[in-house]
Order: sequence, then structure tokens, then C-alpha cells
Amino acid sequence: MKRGQRFRCMICGSEVVLIRAKTGAVRPVCCNQPMTLTKDSVRMYRCPVCGSEAGVIREKSGGLRLICCNVPMQALAA
Ligand SMILES: [Zn+2]
Ligand SMILES: [Zn+2]
Repeated sequence: MKRGQRFRCMICGSEVVLIRAKTGAVRPVCCNQPMTLTKDSVRMYRCPVCGSEAGVIREKSGGLRLICCNVPMQALAA
């Protein structure tokens, strides 16, 4: 499992993002069906000062910046 992996319910369109990946296998279920792993994972960022984490769900303009504690948040390896 990787941080930022994204699952979608093909029936109702619900989406789940994996924020913290450990050793277990996350298998979300919705509408009585296993949710489908999508190809586009969410880019995760962490603040180097306080440890806050954020994920970019959708970026439209290309000018998106994540700032926390007055410093840019750092992209995390998937
Ligand atoms: Zn569903
Ligand atoms: Zn911070």
C-alpha cells in the first residue's frame, strides 16, 4: 500500500484516499463492492516544521502552493 493511493466506488462515485500506509492491506468497500484502486494517486505533502500533512486532490491552474508554518510543505515520496 502506498500513501496517496486512491480508491473509487464504481457504483456511487465515492472516493477514499490512503493517508497513512503501514503494513496492512486497506480494502475499502462501498455499496457492497470492493472499491477500485484508481491510477491517479494523490500527491501528499508534509510540513517540515510541525508535521502537518496535506494531499492535493485536484490541481487546476498549476500555481498551487502549500504553505504551513510560513514554509513550503515538502512533497512526500509515494
Ligand atoms: Zn458506493
Ligand atoms: Zn506547519
